[in-house]
Amino acid sequence: MQKHNWKRIIPFLLILSLFAPMNLLTGMAASNDEREGYVSEIASGPLAGKSFDYFWSEHSTRITDAGPIDGEVIYVGKACDDSDQVPEAMDEDDVALVERGDCLFVEKIDNIEGNGYSAVLLFNDQRTDDDGCDAFPSSMSTSASIPMLAISRTVGLQLLGETGSEPVPCPDGPETESAVGTVGEKVFILNEFDPNSTETGFEQRNGNGWTVPSEEAAFLETVAEESERVTYTEAGTSVEGRPIHLVRVGYPVPPSDEEIANGRNILIQGTPHGNEPAGQEMALQLLRDLAFTDDSELLEQLSETTILFMPTPNPDGREANQRGNSWGVDNNRDHLNLDTPEIQTLAKVMNKFSPEITIDAHERPSGASPEMEMVWPRNLNIDGPLRELSKEMVQDYLMPDVEEAGFTTGIYGSPNSSTNGNERVLSNMLGLRHGIGLITESAGRAKPEDRVEMQMETALSVMRFYRERFDDVVQAVTEAPERKAADGANREPFYLDGADNREPPEWAVLDPASCGYLINSSQEEEISRHIDLFSLRTEEVSGNGVFVTMNQSMMTVIPLLLDEQARYNELSGLALEDCSNPGELEPPLGAPSLANLRILADRFASDGEFANDEAARAVTLHLTAVSQFEEQGETEKVVKHLDGLLELLQHQRENELITEEAYHLIEPQADSYMKELQYAFYQGFVGDDGNSWDSSDFVNLDSWPTNPDGAVYTIQDNTGQIDLDNRQQGNGSAYGRVTPYMEDTENSELLVRFKANEIGNNQRMRLWLQSDAFSPGSSMPVNGYGVELNLNTNELILRGRYDSSSTNFDRIDANMSDEWHWVRLRKQDDELMVRLWHDDSDEPAEWDMVHTLSADEQLPNQSGKTLLSVINFDYDSSNRFNFDEIIVSDLDQ
Ligand SMILES: [Zn+2]
Repeated sequence: MQKHNWKRIIPFLLILSLFAPMNLLTGMAASNDEREGYVSEIASGPLAGKSFDYFWSEHSTRITDAGPIDGEVIYVGKACDDSDQVPEAMDEDDVALVERGDCLFVEKIDNIEGNGYSAVLLFNDQRTDDDGCDAFPSSMSTSASIPMLAISRTVGLQLLGETGSEPVPCPDGPETESAVGTVGEKVFILNEFDPNSTETGFEQRNGNGWTVPSEEAAFLETVAEESERVTYTEAGTSVEGRPIHLVRVGYPVPPSDEEIANGRNILIQGTPHGNEPAGQEMALQLLRDLAFTDDSELLEQLSETTILFMPTPNPDGREANQRGNSWGVDNNRDHLNLDTPEIQTLAKVMNKFSPEITIDAHERPSGASPEMEMVWPRNLNIDGPLRELSKEMVQDYLMPDVEEAGFTTGIYGSPNSSTNGNERVLSNMLGLRHGIGLITESAGRAKPEDRVEMQMETALSVMRFYRERFDDVVQAVTEAPERKAADGANREPFYLDGADNREPPEWAVLDPASCGYLINSSQEEEISRHIDLFSLRTEEVSGNGVFVTMNQSMMTVIPLLLDEQARYNELSGLALEDCSNPGELEPPLGAPSLANLRILADRFASDGEFANDEAARAVTLHLTAVSQFEEQGETEKVVKHLDGLLELLQHQRENELITEEAYHLIEPQADSYMKELQYAFYQGFVGDDGNSWDSSDFVNLDSWPTNPDGAVYTIQDNTGQIDLDNRQQGNGSAYGRVTPYMEDTENSELLVRFKANEIGNNQRMRLWLQSDAFSPGSSMPVNGYGVELNLNTNELILRGRYDSSSTNFDRIDANMSDEWHWVRLRKQDDELMVRLWHDDSDEPAEWDMVHTLSADEQLPNQSGKTLLSVINFDYDSSNRFNFDEIIVSDLDQ
């Protein structure tokens, strides 16, 4: 298949060889207007005309937009805060030549920008690790307003005239001799992406920069135009609205979606983690190769099996070169809960087409050896024969094939890792969905072309396996759903943890498993997308009761979603031992809802919790009114009647018309339900002790680290508790990050009642308004306004966050204790204000701090979310935070 690439490259080589003698004769590089496509060369001096490799940081300005780089280099040293100052450029075409090392790329860029340079070339320093100094970073997580490219140490020194045509040795080669400000040779780099080419951006640049989203779109359009075998659609969009492409490849043409779904298909998923680009490149190249191949074996395969590609399932993460999506959610921890639009898109595709085999292509960004790791689905609830077939594919086909192609291989994941078997990662979920498959993990420190190549060899080997074991594959994927439904009916054991190489802990073995779960009707609504995207069968069995039987093929996810002991469950259903008449049982209570209020009212009436029938009827009447207005979507009237209900309950309690116990069950439900409708965000933490926070109210409840968890979220005494672990050796901190589900607000206010159970250690609580998302690896947002309570210095600090850096506006003594406190944080127009007070005292009229935001201190985002985080910098102490309520008001409403 690589032959196809060569065919396209040969004309290029011919053109280059025609130019070469001319350059030799004139001793000069060709003039700019004669050059097109991709050119990178030293353009003056003894090495004039010599081309070199570079790696383009696609998060800096594109050369396509800025025009070619065409000027003299000026050596600016290391450009760190504590090194020699970067000199001003002398000419607008001048190119800053900076040496790698001593500080972050971001710091270098900060020091170079603003000095008049047209571009930055970063050359390698004397690396002593495996990289060698002629390698360069193939991924630079920095954005610059001018093009930024990495080059080898040799080329850097050549541009300074310090070395000849031979590569410099490393790590013991020559130190850089030039002084900061030295003017070196001219450099010329042209980077024109041809949108009408059937080569990817990566191929067009000869591997000198990954394909960017706009290039992917143009490439797919060209391939689909030139080949009848390819069609593509937008399967969905990301948080930021970028398209997620689904490509279908078939022969002679791809069948209709219905035919694909009913027939045979494979799904190849490219780059779910945005900073792992080799999978995307493999997917693009492979779909193109299949579009034009004349290999009869492959064509025969394509006539029987459609190959589906989702090259970039996380386009926002890819654009930002970050692991998670733009909410900061790790997309490969969302395949059970389906919170992100990206994973909902993939789930829709998987649910619709039920791929026989799925490839989930990843990379280990800092991994070096072995070059290619992979592993099959290990979850214990996957149909046994199916799991064994995936394992056989990996061990007997893929690993030997990839080895034969010249790459070292290994099994991914340490044996005791809790991510082995984890139901939230795709490699396990594809098995729970009754498919064969694997996760691939190429070494991020290998050369970019090699990374793509090892992904390609793996995918080709999967296709070989499918050709050779077609009947076995079809049999396994056909029988697995039936076998699992029978397992459910027979109450065979179900495992909430463990893997095929890791014993499940005792708590995690449900043996016998329940025959089904009873949930209430509002809980059914809460999991409507799971019912949809896993094709779950549910049955209404009473006024408020819904039965979910285990006697169905997707029983593989039911306890994971509904059992109260499952780690990532959506809700706590009632696990049933006897499923003969579930309609007779009382459904469980869930998150505050009308259904819960009805269940409670019915229960109280039949249990004699009301003093008389009249009292019971009064409550029922209110609920009927609430229900009618809810159906009509009249939220204000719903709130009004709930408020009336609360008054009624209060009155009944005072007059002993309802028992004290019943009152305390129903009152928080009604109160929470009302406030959720009333506020931009409300969380009252109503639930049984030990339950997890209601995941349908939060986009993300994040923990760093994850094994053991840095932050554990539970409900205790109707408060939200976060247990914050000690910081672990080797980590910068331990933290928990809370992202609520809410609409963006502009002028808003956050009110929380909270406590910390220890004061004086190095822990902080951080509250944010008008924020976009948490910075990767940080408990602070990229942009936002906030307040930090520092339990170490006992200070309250008012601050702004701008492009991931902090500005402190003001600070005061917090005068904290380990008792309940309140904090109210408000942002209105150009004022930011906060007050903190002890629960014993009334809310003070005065603000503790008011800061007027200058024009410079306004955020780029006009509106945003409320975020909350707790962080521990202390190795020797942990802490526990409790939140009674979290209330966010939209002040513009
Ligand atoms: Zn990954």
